[in-house]
Amino acid sequence: MYSLIKSKQLITEPGKPPVDHGVVLIENDRIRAVGKPEAVQIPPNTTVIDCSNQTVMPGFIDSHTHITANNKYKIPLDAHQAIDLPTAILRGIGNLRDDMVTGVTTMRALGDREDVELRFRDCINRGEVAGPRLVICIEALRPSHGTAKFIGTSCDGPAALRKRIRELFSMGAECVKLFASNIQNGDRYEDYLRSDLTGVPAYTKEELFAAIDEAHTLGMTVAAHAIGGPGMRWAMEAGIDSVEHANLLEESDIEYFLKYGTFLSDPNLQLFFDADTGFESFESWKLDWWREKVKHTIEHTSKYIPQAVREGVKVALATDSTHGTLFKEIEFLVKLGVPNVEALKAVTVNSAKLLKMENDIGTLEEGKFADMVALDGDPLTDIHAVRKVKMVMKGGKQYQDLFM
Ligand SMILES: [Zn+2]
Repeated sequence: MYSLIKSKQLITEPGKPPVDHGVVLIENDRIRAVGKPEAVQIPPNTTVIDCSNQTVMPGFIDSHTHITANNKYKIPLDAHQAIDLPTAILRGIGNLRDDMVTGVTTMRALGDREDVELRFRDCINRGEVAGPRLVICIEALRPSHGTAKFIGTSCDGPAALRKRIRELFSMGAECVKLFASNIQNGDRYEDYLRSDLTGVPAYTKEELFAAIDEAHTLGMTVAAHAIGGPGMRWAMEAGIDSVEHANLLEESDIEYFLKYGTFLSDPNLQLFFDADTGFESFESWKLDWWREKVKHTIEHTSKYIPQAVREGVKVALATDSTHGTLFKEIEFLVKLGVPNVEALKAVTVNSAKLLKMENDIGTLEEGKFADMVALDGDPLTDIHAVRKVKMVMKGGKQYQDLFM
């Protein structure tokens, strides 16, 4: 089965010159040919999908999500586990729908309740539920005294970490998530906030080296929640694939990212800069000491994340515990002074490489999955075009056709 996408402008890969009126020929779920209309041979009985008024580009990749969590429900993280499971799952279906209609075709899920990620991934792959293709860790691992008690499973010591990672691998996990910074003293939500946005190491160096070594031996990538400080640097020394958040990044950390080739994923720009979905909209904003902490972190994020991009650190954007808002992360990165093209790389090629899926997704090239979006406008000159999604295709199927 063949289909042909016609565009006004085709971005095969952010950073490469766009193709005027470029076309994409799709055979089943993969791209067969890409280029100028005159250069692509069109087989008989090809269905034409007319996006000739739009920019067509690779589908967006969200490098850090939690399927069932969504800040729009205004539930503090510690109350999340208390929601009954059917409601959490139904919300998860809605969350992934919101992601897809905003152009997200692949997501890396970094921790959820029970084996929810596994079930969602397999249901989506069987075509029973519409959603982005998922890369999953099944559960996030945290030290017993570490932050995020309600979203991670306690696992201490090199031997236990190796064992749990082997178990998760055999269950079907494709990546590992560790909480590398922030220790927590106390069980209350306020104790969590006091420990959050700090650079205090959580896992020891020895634990990080063991966990990362085990994961890599099994062919899994590893993500570390790390806000800054020595824990973040130890994780990079131990070979972590991506640091998640890094909001307390220092200038000297940029060298670490470059030296170890570590990706900086999910700087959570909305949390810091968006009044509607960020910290400002949370109940905790009333706490003076917390607001001060957020403001201090904003200074680091605003200054060093754009500098990191300029110096060549590979950034991947994500929505974390919001859904259907990846366009905001792209817009905020540009607002911080990052060029449009770099912000577009942060939801396409960079993320594909981070997921080690660059042979399948991230650019529009022969042989890759037919994952793409059509946007009204030109995101290379006006970044707000990324919120004007007119068509979403995953694996050769338009979003509406993903419902059986
Ligand atoms: Zn997260």
